[in-house]
Amino acid sequence: MRVGTGWDLHKLVPDRTLYIGGVEIPHTLGALGHSDGDALLHAVIDALLGALALGDIGSHFPPTDEQYRDIASLELLRRILPLLAGWEIGNLDCTVILDRPFLQPYIGAIRQNIASACSLAIEQVSIKAKTSEGLHEQVIVAEALVLLKKC
Ligand code: MG
Repeated sequence: MRVGTGWDLHKLVPDRTLYIGGVEIPHTLGALGHSDGDALLHAVIDALLGALALGDIGSHFPPTDEQYRDIASLELLRRILPLLAGWEIGNLDCTVILDRPFLQPYIGAIRQNIASACSLAIEQVSIKAKTSEGLHEQVIVAEALVLLKKC
């Protein structure tokens, strides 16, 4: 077995769409980033790459490369999955820290989206939502932990 962790932070700004786990979240702010700025999926990708000791998301998809501008992070996740050959995901446990909006209504859709992308059962994907208690309203932070099993 192997474990991997991922962590990401994006600044929230006006005139960007907020994507979390590939789900579009209605909000006045969105995450600034070279891709669609989906901090949760970036943390998941880094957790997978970390478990495989294959670098990080920036080494696979350089933020200086124009081909990744505004790309959907679900697509980046799909491109990483072939690297898991010989391994299967046991479970994925994630935390999103965001002050607004309240994420609970979207948790089911986010879990389903990630489970579908990774060919997992929804029970294998945990998404927890927390706030910074108003201390960091301009950022979204996400962390992910994955367990891989030989298959
Ligand atoms: Mg990122």
